[in-house]
Amino acid sequence: MRVVSGIQPTGNLHLGNYLGAIRNWVRMQDEVGREGGQCLFFLADLHAISMPHDPAELSANTLGMVAALVACGIDPERSILFNQAQVPAHAELQWLLNGTARIGWLNRMTQFKDKSGKNREGASVALYTYPVLQAADVLLYQATHVPVGEDQKQHLELARDIAQKFNHDFGGGEEIFTLPEPIIPPESARIMSLRDGTAKMSKSDPSEMSRISLSDDADTMMRKVKKAKTDPEPLPSEPGGLEGRPEAVNLVSLYGALSGRSVQSVLDEFGGQGFGAFKPALGELLIETLGPITQRFTELKADREALDAILARGAAEAREIGRPTLNKAYRALGLVRG
Ligand code: ADP
Repeated sequence: MRVVSGIQPTGNLHLGNYLGAIRNWVRMQDEVGREGGQCLFFLADLHAISMPHDPAELSANTLGMVAALVACGIDPERSILFNQAQVPAHAELQWLLNGTARIGWLNRMTQFKDKSGKNREGASVALYTYPVLQAADVLLYQATHVPVGEDQKQHLELARDIAQKFNHDFGGGEEIFTLPEPIIPPESARIMSLRDGTAKMSKSDPSEMSRISLSDDADTMMRKVKKAKTDPEPLPSEPGGLEGRPEAVNLVSLYGALSGRSVQSVLDEFGGQGFGAFKPALGELLIETLGPITQRFTELKADREALDAILARGAAEAREIGRPTLNKAYRALGLVRG
């Protein structure tokens, strides 16, 4: 079993990124490891240039994201952690696959339609061919499994179509690329803003008070939780009593996500109590679970050398694993003899 998954480097990492995305990777690493499989996790910096971006920011975000991943529990000894740009085979294989991918296939991709919006003519070519790079990302490593959320299902289907056509057209009876299977990640927590229970916690919210950032210290976390918007009612003893109370739902779900408990179980403990009692308990839990992570994150972020070393090592391993497949693809296309 070989699992390949990528994430775009973003800055201002927050609790939503941790509970909604990074924690799933850590779980996957542990589960796949138990079954004797291998995980390759990469920062999709090549994908990031498909949208307008600031080069210095992209570079800083890539390092920040590595620091966050390692701080959250991705172990570079057990998983291969790298950024695409240091493994040229991703871009090379994409070009080779461009000969096989059909315009008609790409025209059906709903994500391009969504992301390019009304300005299709002004979108980058990279945004259009993005799914072919994604195909290269996983086919390069003969991935057997790829975790995909609802929005990525179509892209994995495309990767399988490309692999199948390539194998058929150029394999000469040999299977050059493994057809990867999707794994649907466990339902991940969706964390809402601390200032508005109907809006997602996000790096782009102008208010710092709306999110718990991975660089917050314990006092800041507690202060933000205590100032979180709530209503005057006490907590109910049944989940049904949370209806129409988005801020209460968010804080109770957050408590559940951090402690691995169901909403019902949290309400069994706190039902009937007001936020004056619940918020400090939530703050304590947050500090206890996130504190060690934020501390490690802050230390690592300042250690540029360690981060570079992690990425250099991961990239060297990834290049090694990808080389035979890339060579096979060149030979199959008649670009290299022998
Ligand atoms: P943001 O919304 O802050 O711009 P990104 O779009 O960069 O976050 O998301 C990076 C990853 O973190 C994605 O996998 C996304 O699903 C996850 N994520 C971001 N915000 C949240 C949230 N509030 N709750 C759960 N997951 C989130």
